[in-house]
Order: sequence, then structure tokens, then C-alpha cells
Amino acid sequence: MASPPWLARDTGAAWISRLADEAVAEAGRRAQDGPVVCASRLTPSGPLHLGDLREVMTSHLVAEELRHRGHDSVHVLFWYDFERFGGAPSGIGVPAGTRRAWNEHIGKPLTSVPSPPWSAYLNWAYYFEEPMIAALADLGVTFRGASQERLYASGAVRERVLVAVRERARIGAALARHRTDPGAAATGSGTTSGAEAGSPGYFPYRPYCSACDRDPTTVTSYDDETTALAYTCACGHAETVRLAEHGRGRLAHEVELAVFWAHEGVVFEPSRFSPASPGPSLAAAGRIIREVFNGERPLGAVHAPVCVSGMARKDRSGRVPTPAAALAVMDPPLLRLPYVRHRPEQPFTIALGRELQRAYDEWDALAREVADGTAEPAEAVAYRRSAGATGRPLPAPPRPLPYHLLASVVNITAGDGGRILRVLHDLNPGDPVASLDELWPRLDRAAHWIAGRIPAGHRPRIRETPATGLLSSLGAAERASLRHLLDGLDENRSLDDLTALVYGVPKLQAGSTADAAPELKAAQRAFFALLYTLLLGCDSGPRLPALLLALGPDRVRRLLGA
Ligand SMILES: [Zn+2]
Repeated sequence: MASPPWLARDTGAAWISRLADEAVAEAGRRAQDGPVVCASRLTPSGPLHLGDLREVMTSHLVAEELRHRGHDSVHVLFWYDFERFGGAPSGIGVPAGTRRAWNEHIGKPLTSVPSPPWSAYLNWAYYFEEPMIAALADLGVTFRGASQERLYASGAVRERVLVAVRERARIGAALARHRTDPGAAATGSGTTSGAEAGSPGYFPYRPYCSACDRDPTTVTSYDDETTALAYTCACGHAETVRLAEHGRGRLAHEVELAVFWAHEGVVFEPSRFSPASPGPSLAAAGRIIREVFNGERPLGAVHAPVCVSGMARKDRSGRVPTPAAALAVMDPPLLRLPYVRHRPEQPFTIALGRELQRAYDEWDALAREVADGTAEPAEAVAYRRSAGATGRPLPAPPRPLPYHLLASVVNITAGDGGRILRVLHDLNPGDPVASLDELWPRLDRAAHWIAGRIPAGHRPRIRETPATGLLSSLGAAERASLRHLLDGLDENRSLDDLTALVYGVPKLQAGSTADAAPELKAAQRAFFALLYTLLLGCDSGPRLPALLLALGPDRVRRLLGA
């Protein structure tokens, strides 16, 4: 059967439906009780980027689609907070010279490392987790968090840990078969203790030392009967613990992955394509869950990276493009949209610079098409998946004024609420903005965007007095242009009318046949530069229609020498 033509475009509807179909089929085949479990994994060892968000969004969107179809589904987010700390990464706002201060914590679990002194968080892991949790709440992403540390400490995975250790020879052999590829061997398994996988001394569990809380430990003996486990640590400590009561240690990565999959019954879990750091071998973990735990590896989707434009990978203060940074300038539905629209294997770019204005314009146009029923079906589905989650719409301004307009008005008014309202009140005299409440949360984000792009000292400054010298030196054509603009000010009070007016003046000057000619472009540039000089004292500034609106006709008249 041929696909409908809009499916072929894969504008956002198709891949989510396809993965949800597969998850339903897989859950049915397994016939396991309870909800269909979609999972994702995050390691809070450093700032969590918009790229990390992709893994979470992919699982979220599939889980959402299952709920939308009436299936019971849950999104389990594994926080890998029990990983060993490897040092303070760059890009967290820690000055390079002081990063060494954290070196004394290398080898401890992330939850045992103090958070940076300027933060209020309990530990290193929470310092990076908490902003992500807040961003996910804003994005409407619901999940059940599963802390790696607590899974061990609570005893939730203890039985499977004991099985893994009992079956260590079989696991070691399975892993060794996956280590023939030198690329995979290089990453190894960070927690393999004692000897390499495949050797008779292979041991899949590594305790954190109870004296120094670090992981340079070696298991020296293990008794399968009593589960007595003896280890030594590089710090000199030696101890014997009972594994059946121990919760302060970790399985090797692939074994752990298999245990977590089995513990939660994960049906779908995306993973990242990253040739630089392949991470645990999914194939090896798949073999372990099948051979040792009588389970099955989840369905997956390998996703491509997310690029960001308009924000440096790391700016001078060390900030990186996190979801929180994007949400400071973008409404949640707008940030959800690219994750919805692109198949996992397609890379995409989130524009936080100038292109953000166009992204907003396109979003508003799509919203209008959806509202009046003219949107293409696939686009309407992409809109639904972006505009709301868990059956609820995400916060949206009652009056979605163009983002570029809000940014310009904030810029011109220096963010003063009273002046913003006065300008916007006049915007559409037939249906005036009565309160700034109609513009939240978008107004806030436009204000952030402007603040991030234009330092306070570089905001446009409106002239106090007319540029009399320049006005008296104008030629006849320039005077005629200004006169034409001034004559139109009174009957053109809305943004659209003012736009037509300012673009109409140079057209009139250049002659009506010169529609796309270079002369018209040159005439426009010259006229706009003249207006900026007369109004602001410099030759560029915010968009002129918004500027004229913000100033009001009386002030414009005075500055243009009327
Ligand atoms: Zn130690």
C-alpha cells in the first residue's frame, strides 16, 4: 500500500508513530505486565546540553504517543549519578586555573563530590541534574527518575548483582567476544575490576573504597557461598564485605546496562551516535541480558547530534547551550518542535541568534493554520506534539505578538513595563493590548534575548533634540521623503500600516516601476539611514516601523523637524 504523500516528507509525524507502533508490537510480543517502559539515560558529570536533551525527548515523544493512543506507558530517566568523577570539565563557569581544586575528588562517585561553592546544590551530580529537571518540567516532559546510586544503595538491583557476579565467567566470555573490535576495546569497561574480561580473574563488580570513597579498588577474593568479597584500595585500605548486603559499588557498564534494562523491563531506549565515545556496547549488554537474565534488550533509535547557532559552544563566562539557556529565550513549544520534526538520525540546528525571530514567525504562522484548519495533516500533528504534553497545552501567551516586535519594543523602551504597554497599546488601535499579562511568557523571553545580544550600554538612545544642522542641510528629495512620511503618520497607527508607509516612501521616490531594482534598494537604505540618524543619532537601529510606533507620532514629528 502506498504511503500518503505527506508521510514521505516525514515532517514530524511519521517517525514517532513508527517507533510507537514498534514499541506496542514489542511489548505485546514480550507479554510483560505493567506499562510500556521507554527509557533514557543522562550522566550529570557536567552541563547537560541541548544534545543530551535529544535522548530524553525521543523517549518522551514515543511514551507520549503511546499515552495518546490509550496505552499505559512510562518514561524512566536513569540518572547516572554514581559514575566516577573524572575531574571538573571546562564549560561549567569554573575558571580554568581553579579546576584543579576538584582533582582531589577524582575517582569518587559524582554524588560524593561537592558542588561548586557558588551553588546551593547538595553535590556535583545534583548541580547538573536540577537545572535539567526544571527545564524538563517547563517542556512538559514527565518521567520517573531512577538514580543509579539509589538502585544499588536501596538493594533494588541486588539480586541481579549477585547473579551477575555468580555468572562472571559467562559474562567475561561474552564481553571478550565483543572486544575483538579495537575501537570497543579502547573504551573498555570502566568498572571491570581485577582482570580483563575473558580472563579467569574477571570480576564485574567494583566497590567504592569505604575509607577514601574512591574507586582504585581491586577485588582480591570472592566466596560464592557467603558472598564475602575482599578488596584492597590504592589508598592502602583493605576490607572484606558481604556483597549480599553491599550497596556501595558498581557493575561494569555493559553488565549494569543489562541489569537496569531487566530491572525496569525497558522496551524502548534511544542512544546517541558518538564515534568519539561509543560508551557501553549495546550489543554486549544485549547478549548479557539474554544469556544471563533471560531478558531482551530494548528497541532503540540512534540519534544524531544537535547543533546550536547564535550561541558559542562555550561563551566567555563558560556557559554552554543547555536547555535552560534555550528556554530563557524560547517558549517550550518552540524548543520541542525541532525534536519532534526530525527523525532521530537527522542532525538539526537550534537557532538562538537572529534566526530565532524567523522560527517564531513560522511557529505563529503554523499556529494560525492549525487554528483555521488549513495546516497540512503532518504539520498539524507536529504542532500538537510540540504545543502540549501529557494532554495539556504548554503555557502560551494569550496574544502571540511577533517576537521581533516584542524584542524591538523592549530594546527601544529599555524594558520599562509602562512604556512597553504604552507602545503596544497603540499597536492595533482596534484591539489594543490592555495588559502585559497578555504577552507573557513571550515578552520575558524576548527581553532576555535582547539583553543577551545587546549590552545595556549599546541600547538605542532616542535623540533629546532634533538634529537641526542635518535637517537644514537636506536636499529637496530628502525633504520630500520626510514630508511624505510625516503626512502618513496620523492615519497609519498600526504596525502593518507603518511598515507599508516606511517601505512605500522610497518606492515613491524611485518610481513605481523600480520594484525590485537596485536603485530601490539603495533608496531604501539611504532613507532608513537618514531616519535612524535623525531619530537615534546613528545610522542603524531596531526595525523602523516598531521604532516609529514606540516613539509615537508627536515625538517623530518633532525629531524630523515638522
Ligand atoms: Zn581507598
